Amino acid sequence: MLSVILPAYNEEKMVGKAAEVISGILEQEHIEYELIFVNDGSRDRTWEEIKKAAEKNIHVRGLLFSRNFGKESAIFAGLAGAAGDCCAVMDCDLQHPPKTLVEMYRLWEQGYEVVEGVKKSRGEESALHKASAGLFYRLMTMAVKIDMSRASDYKLLDRKAVDALLAMPERNAFFRALSSWIGYRTATVEFDVQEREEGESKWSTWSLVKYAVTNIASFSAAPMQLVTIAGTFVFLMAVVLGIQSLVRYFSGHAVEGFTTVILLILIIGSIVMISLGIIGYYIAKIYEEVKGRPRYLISAKIGKEGKRVEEKQDV
Ligand code: UDP
Ligand code: MG
Repeated sequence: MLSVILPAYNEEKMVGKAAEVISGILEQEHIEYELIFVNDGSRDRTWEEIKKAAEKNIHVRGLLFSRNFGKESAIFAGLAGAAGDCCAVMDCDLQHPPKTLVEMYRLWEQGYEVVEGVKKSRGEESALHKASAGLFYRLMTMAVKIDMSRASDYKLLDRKAVDALLAMPERNAFFRALSSWIGYRTATVEFDVQEREEGESKWSTWSLVKYAVTNIASFSAAPMQLVTIAGTFVFLMAVVLGIQSLVRYFSGHAVEGFTTVILLILIIGSIVMISLGIIGYYIAKIYEEVKGRPRYLISAKIGKEGKRVEEKQDV
């Protein structure tokens, strides 16, 4: 069975349509399936819409978060609740074309364990959004050392890969990168990002920046190495300037150079503060992980659960 996980946050207009379109296509292809909508603490009628869809179609299931925990958490909740032999993750705004799902499923049948959806085009986006997303992916690619510029959350994973992901204890999991980190036999499928029909994108530029920083920190310690590099650089400067100052002192021209002193204090001071900030950020992340709070809390479930589901609230 194929489990399709659909994180939904304020998607009242799209839930019904997504359930209809996806189930239509899968039934036509005779693929056994379940659709798991994860309501990520929506403030609109999304949960009612999921209930309605579940009444219409017994393959539809729903999970309700106690508040908004973010898309990554919704994905992991869906994976934890899924009963399928393979699980697909897709957006419920139908920007990920459901037809591609069939293509992914066929590849899985051929023995691929991770099928990654890769964006052929990015669809309609504002210039600012495009620029900020571009910067994010460049940074991510550098940090993760995996080309992320065309990566998406549209993926199909074999049970083995799903279990590997679920076994990871980290709270700050970045699904998109983890799915390639785990390895396994991987295939990619290209798709065109569709235009959003209803509702609006949940990503503001600020939330993208936060997302970028969190995910880079969760996947790479490179920013901390920058601190070491900056430190080395400042030390070299200190040696050169130190020699120069000593030479001046012994040749009796020591009073000049006040500008240099001010500049040095400013530069070193700011580098030290930025470095402390970076280290502080990682300590904060360690603190969060050590607390070991659940990734999400589920307040309600609907739909028939498959055999594989364990009655665990937090995974
Ligand atoms: N989403 C979510 N929780 C959030 C934000 C978004 O579950 O806090 C879901 C949203 O409902 C959609 C998917 O993540 O199914 C992608 O969101 P969106 O379409 O806003 O992002 P974009 O397509 O613009 O990248
Ligand atoms: Mg979207």
